[in-house]
Amino acid sequence: MKYSLLWLFSLTTSLIFAQEGMWIPSELDKVIADMQSKGLKLQSQDLYSVDQPSLKDAVVWFDMGCTGEIVSNEGLLLTNHHCGFDYIQQHSSVENDYLTKGFWAMSKQEEKPCQGLTISMVQSIEEVTADVSGRMVGVQSEEYSKRLSDVKLMLAKEGKLPQGFQWNKEARGPFGMEWQTANGEFSSFIRDYNYGTRFYRIVLKTYSDIRWVGAPPSDIGKFGGDTDNWVWPRHTGDFSVFRIYAGANNEPSPYNVENKPYQPKKFFTVNAKGVHENDFTMIYGFPGRTEHFLPSSAIQFVTESMLPLRIEMREAAMKVLKERMFSSDKVRIQYAAKQSTVANAYIKWKGALQGLNKFDAVNLKKKQEEELAAVMPIKPAVVIDSLYREYGSYLLANAAFSEFMNSGPELFRMANRMKTVLATKENWSTTAADKWTEFESFYKDFDAMTERDLLFEFAPLLTKKVSGKLEGQIFRDLLKENEDDWGGVLYTLMENSLFVDTELLKTAFLKGDFKRIENDPIYKTAIALYDQHAIVVQPKVQLCNAEMDKALHQWVQVLTLAKHPAVNWCDANSTLRIAYGKVQGSKPRDGVVYDYYTTTDGIVQKFQSGNYDFNISATLDSLYRNDIFGNYAENGELRVCYTGSNHTTGGNSGSPALNAEGHLVGINFDRSWESTMSDYLFQPTICRNIMVDIRYVLWVMDVYANADHLIQEMKIVR
Ligand code: ASP
Repeated sequence: MKYSLLWLFSLTTSLIFAQEGMWIPSELDKVIADMQSKGLKLQSQDLYSVDQPSLKDAVVWFDMGCTGEIVSNEGLLLTNHHCGFDYIQQHSSVENDYLTKGFWAMSKQEEKPCQGLTISMVQSIEEVTADVSGRMVGVQSEEYSKRLSDVKLMLAKEGKLPQGFQWNKEARGPFGMEWQTANGEFSSFIRDYNYGTRFYRIVLKTYSDIRWVGAPPSDIGKFGGDTDNWVWPRHTGDFSVFRIYAGANNEPSPYNVENKPYQPKKFFTVNAKGVHENDFTMIYGFPGRTEHFLPSSAIQFVTESMLPLRIEMREAAMKVLKERMFSSDKVRIQYAAKQSTVANAYIKWKGALQGLNKFDAVNLKKKQEEELAAVMPIKPAVVIDSLYREYGSYLLANAAFSEFMNSGPELFRMANRMKTVLATKENWSTTAADKWTEFESFYKDFDAMTERDLLFEFAPLLTKKVSGKLEGQIFRDLLKENEDDWGGVLYTLMENSLFVDTELLKTAFLKGDFKRIENDPIYKTAIALYDQHAIVVQPKVQLCNAEMDKALHQWVQVLTLAKHPAVNWCDANSTLRIAYGKVQGSKPRDGVVYDYYTTTDGIVQKFQSGNYDFNISATLDSLYRNDIFGNYAENGELRVCYTGSNHTTGGNSGSPALNAEGHLVGINFDRSWESTMSDYLFQPTICRNIMVDIRYVLWVMDVYANADHLIQEMKIVR
């Protein structure tokens, strides 16, 4: 049976699973020979070691969502412009429009502290699957999940710490309960891989005094805007610069003027020799999420229902934001981060949908399942199918609710937050001012007209998308009361609401006029929406997710038994991974060939198209046209971006793009539109990641911004 299975998979899946994979750095022995045969000049311990400095020590988890890399012995850090965006926005205003104009600290004193930003570094990754299973033997199903959490916490405490530190508090981390040291410098947790079929213990060290050093203007860092997001050929200088600061003994410390630049165990050598076709390439970072095990029924649900719903709702948000942001500079800055977030996933989903349809992913997976079914039971796949039938409408309602609250108007989310704040009314006169600060920062980025327009689009959409008994009903009732006129609904909600007028709300809040706040139409509607969601939708979604996880866990077990190539690697789960491939272009469509790199000539050509997203300043135009490229050009051209066949996903943004020697040659920031399907199905012929060439980054800092003191700090080989 084994042989017949191996034979089957070699026929139908070897093409699909040929180059994909995001490898766990502590287990590189599995792939190091293949990496070396493709050009890598390093050993696995150069990439990952807990005993000696290795490249892993120079890779950081940036803001728990992106990746960054350390490039100097003074904690200088590179990541993407879009990863640093929230912090660039934090320091920007109409008077100091760093978003548009860029910013460069010309000395360490000018570096700007970033409130809320953290940088974490992996200390160790150890597989503990056997320890977990050993401690779960004989546990009954009713107590399984409670016992599993306890076991995980127990095992987390066995994570190693340097001398002078000890685990002394349990706290909730991004992946559940974890152990932390007294001031949260270190944390240790057990992370599930492949739906809990494997477990790893990860120890992290986290720094929280991070300062913003610089970012290019938006006509470099965001060049191409939404027009070019997820697009190749690409010309975006998508990078920003930060610095990690440390307290006594180089250890983490909250912000303090006395803190000193962090001295890393390892930093990347920057290689300005350039990158060429077929060179070995790898990406070291924190990919967020892939779902490559999903069976055909799941892919069908995603492509026929889930993605179309989310795409439609985001389209509505983008239309409003575009109009409103165009109308005023203030609104443009206020909604810049939101607009980027909304647009980012929107375009990605459209690409994924197109790719999955083009490669007929549903039928491809169906065929594999049929082949598998011929030789062994595939019950989990059948269960997954029935779960979608039973809970599909709730999953869609949940997605619509989340789009409504996050991509649509923000007032309701804020009003719901108000409910939590008002839950403790004691000592109001002494605590109110403090409590108000969070609303202050909300209102900094609030524009009533934008909210009104978003609500006008989203209320009908939610009503249409969510079947009668769910949240949509609340708007349906309001619509009835207003004689089927959405304008009337808006008027009822917003005309007399405190929530659209910061000053009125602030006065009522500080005075403790709870009655007025709690009777506010926006407040009341928000609470009704959240309650309805919590009562009707959430329990079903939770039930479905729990059942789905169980079925997927069993599905991975079936695939493991069948030695299916999909189990060679673990789905991305925001943990440290390495992907490798070649520097290469692609042929995404009939008659279309993508070259593997772009140059500044393309910027000038795009500028000439007249599209607003391609506007550049006169200074840049003149530098590009007159070939003022410093010593960063190759054959008279300044290269901007390049592509490779590294398997990456969201979270890999900002990851170091490395050459065969482990030198930094680029910064990963995107995939081409045709590649976004790789979160579900990696197609080696077309899936490409996009990196900004490090020579362009250096050129921007040096020639464009005259921030050559930063270049001096780095170790650059030419
Ligand atoms: N642009 C993505 C990110 O923001 C990277 C990717 O999905 O390829 O992380």
